[in-house]
Amino acid sequence: MKKLSIIIFILMILSLGFSYVIPQTHTDFSSIFSFHFNSEAEFETPPQRSSFPIYHMEIRDKDEYLAGNMDIFFINQWDEPLDNIQLNLPANMTGQNNIIVSSLKMNNKNVAFNNHADKIIILLPQTLMPGDTAIISLTFETHFKGNFTRFGKYDDTYLLTLWHPVIAPRAAGNWVSFSWVPHADPYFFEASIFHVDFYSDKYIISPHPHVQTGNHYKFETKPVRDFSLIMGNLSRTSQRVPRGPEIIYYSREHRADLVENAVDIFSFYTKKLGPYPYPTLVLADVPMDYFKGMEFSGMIFFNDQQTIDVFTLAHELAHQWWYGLVGNDQIRESWIDEGLANYLAYKYCQAQALPVADAFRMYFSIMENNYRGFSIVRKIHDFPSDIVYRQAVYLKGANFWIRVEEIIGEKETFKFLKRIQEDYQYGIITTDIIIQALSRKYDIEASDLYKLLN
Ligand SMILES: [Zn+2]
Repeated sequence: MKKLSIIIFILMILSLGFSYVIPQTHTDFSSIFSFHFNSEAEFETPPQRSSFPIYHMEIRDKDEYLAGNMDIFFINQWDEPLDNIQLNLPANMTGQNNIIVSSLKMNNKNVAFNNHADKIIILLPQTLMPGDTAIISLTFETHFKGNFTRFGKYDDTYLLTLWHPVIAPRAAGNWVSFSWVPHADPYFFEASIFHVDFYSDKYIISPHPHVQTGNHYKFETKPVRDFSLIMGNLSRTSQRVPRGPEIIYYSREHRADLVENAVDIFSFYTKKLGPYPYPTLVLADVPMDYFKGMEFSGMIFFNDQQTIDVFTLAHELAHQWWYGLVGNDQIRESWIDEGLANYLAYKYCQAQALPVADAFRMYFSIMENNYRGFSIVRKIHDFPSDIVYRQAVYLKGANFWIRVEEIIGEKETFKFLKRIQEDYQYGIITTDIIIQALSRKYDIEASDLYKLLN
């Protein structure tokens, strides 16, 4: 009887939500666990979530691989009941068995699940209603087989992105699976909190707040889109953005002016889009395929074999707001973050009176013309080639905002973008949210806006 009442008590606690399990930290989380709602109801569907999943991880570097234990404090943050939960194994997109899960439990009990190469589907013993919580416990290994596509090992540098099991995001009532496209970023994540004890003799580069004691790195993050790291030795230089984060630049051979330019661009974005909530931004020169740069939460990779121009730098920095702070479905609606990153890079170059601004504006407009009648709101796997993907999504996507600016003016365009940042920070926006909000606020026919994307 006593045992039964203890079990009932534990079940009651589990159903109460997460505020109680969030360990007290030095950070004031009170503001991030409740969304701010606007009385004006500018956006038809304000964010519904009131808390974030928390990943507790203990990771041991075994040299050849990482051994991980993970407890995910899961919350059904969607407004629909769940009969299953999907975990994605993102690194398995780029090669088989990079991530191997060896045990899985839910609320400390065995649970039925289906194992796939790149995902695990947990079959819930009972329906999890909106707001219900569960603890998912996993044991996993992450292996590095030398393949190198943002994840993997290259000489003595390890890129740890996409490296651990993660709750799949949801779109239109379904779990979203990831499948690899080398010329795009075919993944996205719900913002989550990470508490990680990482044991390694290697040097760890990370933007996330941590305390290091010997080989023990103890991390505690605010809500972030992903928890990415680099293991390896690169030399460091840094500069602080006035009233902003410290920008730390790691490289074997530091590029001239990269940090100075980054600080200037970052100040511009902070003024236009709102403050950056994290203390550090890491820029790192690493080996990389296809891309000049690639964005992660608090960190940007630059291709160490390529020149990084100001436009590219500005594009990648803009992703800290569009990808990082405000997310979107990068598989079906990649025009949102790529279009905005290009538009904002253009606005920075224009504000600096750089000739490249005019060249890009012309380029955007030519591609809008070339791709008229070609919808850019489509799955990245459904573009006929990587060139078409880049031209349509990056350039026609940016031109959408040029056209919006022509209708409502520059000042209102920035005001609108800043408002999205405020209302959807740590959330996910969609094409419909953007268009409906623009249409309502500025009395523009929604169909005219959709036409700019089709
Ligand atoms: Zn981009």
